[in-house]
Amino acid sequence: MKELSDIGLVGLAVMGENLILNMANNGYTVTAYNRSTEKVDAFLAGRAKGKSIRGAHSVEELVASLAKPRKIMLMVKAGAPVDAFIEQILPHLEEGDILIDGGNTHFPDTNRRVDYCASKGILFVGAGVSGGEEGALTGPSIMPGGAKDAWHHVKPIFQSIAAKVEDGTPCCDWVGENGAGHFVKMVHNGIEYGDMQLICEAYQIMKDLLGMSADEMHEVFAEWNEGELDSYLTEITRDILKTKDEDGEPLVDKILDTAGQKGTGKWTGVAALEMGVPLTLIGEAVFARCLSAQKEERVEAAKIISGPTPKFEGDKKAFIEDLRNALFAAKIVSYAQGYVLMREAAKEFGWELNNGGIALMWRGGCIIRSVFLGNIKEAFDTNPALTNLLLDPYFQQRVDAAQAGWRNVVASATLNGIPAPTLTSALSYFDGYRTARLPANLLQAQRDFFGAHTYERTDKPRGEFFHTNWTGRG
Ligand code: NAP
Repeated sequence: MKELSDIGLVGLAVMGENLILNMANNGYTVTAYNRSTEKVDAFLAGRAKGKSIRGAHSVEELVASLAKPRKIMLMVKAGAPVDAFIEQILPHLEEGDILIDGGNTHFPDTNRRVDYCASKGILFVGAGVSGGEEGALTGPSIMPGGAKDAWHHVKPIFQSIAAKVEDGTPCCDWVGENGAGHFVKMVHNGIEYGDMQLICEAYQIMKDLLGMSADEMHEVFAEWNEGELDSYLTEITRDILKTKDEDGEPLVDKILDTAGQKGTGKWTGVAALEMGVPLTLIGEAVFARCLSAQKEERVEAAKIISGPTPKFEGDKKAFIEDLRNALFAAKIVSYAQGYVLMREAAKEFGWELNNGGIALMWRGGCIIRSVFLGNIKEAFDTNPALTNLLLDPYFQQRVDAAQAGWRNVVASATLNGIPAPTLTSALSYFDGYRTARLPANLLQAQRDFFGAHTYERTDKPRGEFFHTNWTGRG
């Protein structure tokens, strides 16, 4: 073990412990520290035994154990604990030392902390980390942003512990200034909400419209995972569907249909509303979780409100292929919307985001990892200034080929009374985006009618505003 540690890590819960082990396995010497110091001793005596990991029982001990510039990574509960730790450690640090927050922090907090720490001469990095417990140990996706001068110091450690794609490229690169890393991680989580909800809608359509069993659906997801829908979430869905309870029945059938959420999807939706970005699919995915949580109310409503009884007539195999196409096309819309949100945030906050690099960071290690992200990387490599993924020639052709099936699925779900909010809203966005003239002319007339908000005319230059006295009254 080296005399001084390469990095200190604070927070010995699931993520922290596994990241430390990952760093040690990659040849780094790490100091482990936790507020409740008995966890330090338990870790040293247990999983850390025999590895290049030392413990600290105080902030002073932690600081004294580190090579300069000191690098200290926090993996503690997001929010007040991060501010509390910053205040606790600042008096012990020297100019040029580096603090890294690897938690699920809301990006405005990171914006604030980067500036605050800079005022004290400390380089602050907000790094989104995805991949859960297993990813932390074997290779997470890491999205760092903040004080750029810190990057060359932390880059070797982060890139060596990160997941790698097939050619060995690490799923970690510099994202941008201030809270850019945490913003991109937030959008990642929002996309995760969307991808999960899309899969759930496909599942409900197969179950309730096609009357398929869990085993049959397992086969479909297994097949889908061999093609362009190949992704971590498709893979775990395949495995979930074949998992049986003790009585031999599918376990998934016994799980209560109320979804939980920790708030990162909501943050993504709120950011989109604040920036005026139509992030409809993720928004619907968040609301679908909210509706699922109203279980008792839904059970009562189901007794009172009626709708069509699902009935499928036709070629089941062909419909499953339509469903696959619908899922793929809607997924393209979701990522297209997420990228527009990141572009607007970059404009608002003055970040220079590397769109292809972001796709690469999400390509492995994280929950939304998929083959499809390789296509997104290629689209941005070909045209870094691409305004919308739907305009990329590959995706344009792919969505075009999927359109008919997608429309059939949305129409069938609607006619049969099966909710499919993300598949449906993605199609509405797609149709809206490709419509040169939307009904906002009427909307502007309404606004002018009741509020004299004025309107622009198609036969006059943009920027000239008109008002009509619609009622003829004085
Ligand atoms: P966690 O349950 O979010 O947090 C537990 C850790 O925070 C413990 O070390 C705890 O110390 C410390 N802590 C809590 N309040 C504190 C305070 N006021 N002052 C100092 N320390 C405090 O742990 P986690 O699940 O490993 O997650 C760590 C971070 O990574 C979180 O921000 C989480 O959102 C993010 N994250 C988690 C996952 C995941 O899959 N779990 C994935 C990606 C990112 P004590 O032992 O003293 O209580």
